[in-house]
Amino acid sequence: MINLYGLDRNQLQALFVEQGLQEFRGRQLMKWVYHQGKTDFATMTDLPKTMRDWLVENACFELPEVKNFLKSKDGTLKWVLDLDDGNLIETVLIPEKNRNTLCVSSQVGCMLDCSFCSTGKQGFNGNLSAAMIVGQLVIANQVLAAEGRAVTNVVLMGMGEPLLNFDAAISATNVMKDDLAFNLSKRRVTISTAGVVPAINELAKVTDVSLAVSLHAPNDELRNVLVPINRKYPIAQLKEACQRYVEHLGEARKLVIEYTLIKGVNDQREHALALAELLKGVRCKVNLIPFNPFPGTEYQRPKKADILDFQSIMMRAGYATMLRTTRGEDIDAACGQLVGKVLDRTKRQERYKAKLDANTIAVGAG
Ligand code: SAH
Repeated sequence: MINLYGLDRNQLQALFVEQGLQEFRGRQLMKWVYHQGKTDFATMTDLPKTMRDWLVENACFELPEVKNFLKSKDGTLKWVLDLDDGNLIETVLIPEKNRNTLCVSSQVGCMLDCSFCSTGKQGFNGNLSAAMIVGQLVIANQVLAAEGRAVTNVVLMGMGEPLLNFDAAISATNVMKDDLAFNLSKRRVTISTAGVVPAINELAKVTDVSLAVSLHAPNDELRNVLVPINRKYPIAQLKEACQRYVEHLGEARKLVIEYTLIKGVNDQREHALALAELLKGVRCKVNLIPFNPFPGTEYQRPKKADILDFQSIMMRAGYATMLRTTRGEDIDAACGQLVGKVLDRTKRQERYKAKLDANTIAVGAG
């Protein structure tokens, strides 16, 4: 069975052509699904009967199953989704005055093991299909529709590294942007990466979505510790790849730099000054994320004054610098708190738990 939620316009058209039909049949199908909300092939009366029969036999529109749905005091919503194979992933909606941002997962767990992220501690099981990435948006919109709302922005900032699930991330974001589907502006669909440099280089060939980079440190020595993939692709390479990508996006677009502030680790004035220096000449804006604690971590969130100090240094250096307020903490929906349930294939979870048991990691207050 082909789950059609995972096919973008070109792929759907190709599917119809393979079946001996014309390309426009693919577009007709998209309108039924995304504009009329109809996924029952029998109702798609303008498709040839033989094609409808073929679709019934060979294709489906399947969504992940909602295992749990949580609502935070601050309005943040979290879905725990069952992928039908024992794995659970998480999706978070952050409502704001003028927008509803959906944070979707791209992998079951994560391979990268950034030292301050709880998703990484869960280990890794595999990639999400494009359909399961799009499915998260379908489910969120179904809930919002009841209140006359809809998702306005999508960020691939949930569980996983989207650029290590490249093809699925591209197909899914294509569907999100397509005016025959969700019709989100390219500016409002963001892929976030810890810095998979070769994939960033590929990105410009296939898409024009916004790009966010999880930088978190102004030098290689520190970044090697926080974001281990930096040992493979150091900052200079990352910077060059990102600059090339924003050039491709054009004048009016900016790279998003994500920087999680961790007390005493990367939150000092010297770090801010070094960051400002590093980003010179990069068309970017900066998002500061105060560290969100999780069980077993030694890291702590900086004091408010230090966070504001960091922000003002960046602002004075000329960077638009946003402080990302922590949302949904009471339902473990904040950045770095998404864990789902990963049937870990990397044994990392085991090692981490063993360390916890052996008390070699202080269990934080969070
Ligand atoms: N792998 C991709 C997508 C995940 S995005 C990437 O690294 O960009 C999740 C964002 O939350 C990243 O910027 C990540 O570094 C940040 N983050 C992870 N753990 C966090 C924590 N405990 N507190 C605050 N931010 C965190």
